[in-house]
Amino acid sequence: MSLTEIKQRIEAEEKRVGRAVGSTKLIAVSKVQPLDRVTHVLDQGHRMFGENRVQEAQGRWGSLLDRYDGIELHLLGPLQSNKVRPAAEMFDAIHSLDREKLARKLADLAQERGQCPELFVQVNTGEEPQKAGVLPEAVDAFIELCRSIDLPITGLMCIPPVDEEPSLHFALLRKLAERNGLTGLSMGMSGDFERAVALGATHVRVGSAIFGEREKTA
Ligand SMILES: *Cc1c(COP(=O)(O)O)cnc(C)c1O
Repeated sequence: MSLTEIKQRIEAEEKRVGRAVGSTKLIAVSKVQPLDRVTHVLDQGHRMFGENRVQEAQGRWGSLLDRYDGIELHLLGPLQSNKVRPAAEMFDAIHSLDREKLARKLADLAQERGQCPELFVQVNTGEEPQKAGVLPEAVDAFIELCRSIDLPITGLMCIPPVDEEPSLHFALLRKLAERNGLTGLSMGMSGDFERAVALGATHVRVGSAIFGEREKTA
């Protein structure tokens, strides 16, 4: 699918469910993709990108940030606590906040720097043991903790289990967000972004559908 086609599909879905056109942001997930595919998308005017690893992103985007104006970078993958500072310096948004230690480090950095990336709390909606994320039952307390240390939270993020209907997980994420007064919903990937738009996603994260299959997974 081309970038244009994906944007058209998002718009068609927004219209179908009565959402404002343009209310879903498209994060082009460029992790592990060859540079020429990324510059191709940049040259089409797209500016919002997602990466999975801090180090990989630093290597790739250092020079691109000089060459193109207005790039917005989103960290989607797991964040190690010793990478919080470079992550906060490089990324406009972090979608993988999932534990107290990270929250406290981010809060300290926000105080020190006077600014903070947009933050999404990752929720393990499928309660999968191998997957990162706060368990659904622990979300309310985690959001409360973040608020108690003045850490601003934009919304919630999830990656549904591969073998389950994603809409159930998107609906759960939305319910958890609403219950906590959060408006951001980071959900939906190449295979299910239209269903995520239908259920209110504010950010969809689309990789292989834009760039083609990845050579190896990140
Ligand atoms: C890789 C990745 C995506 C994009 O996946 P595709 O299936 O290629 O669209 C989205 N979100 C996260 C967290 C990812 O790691």
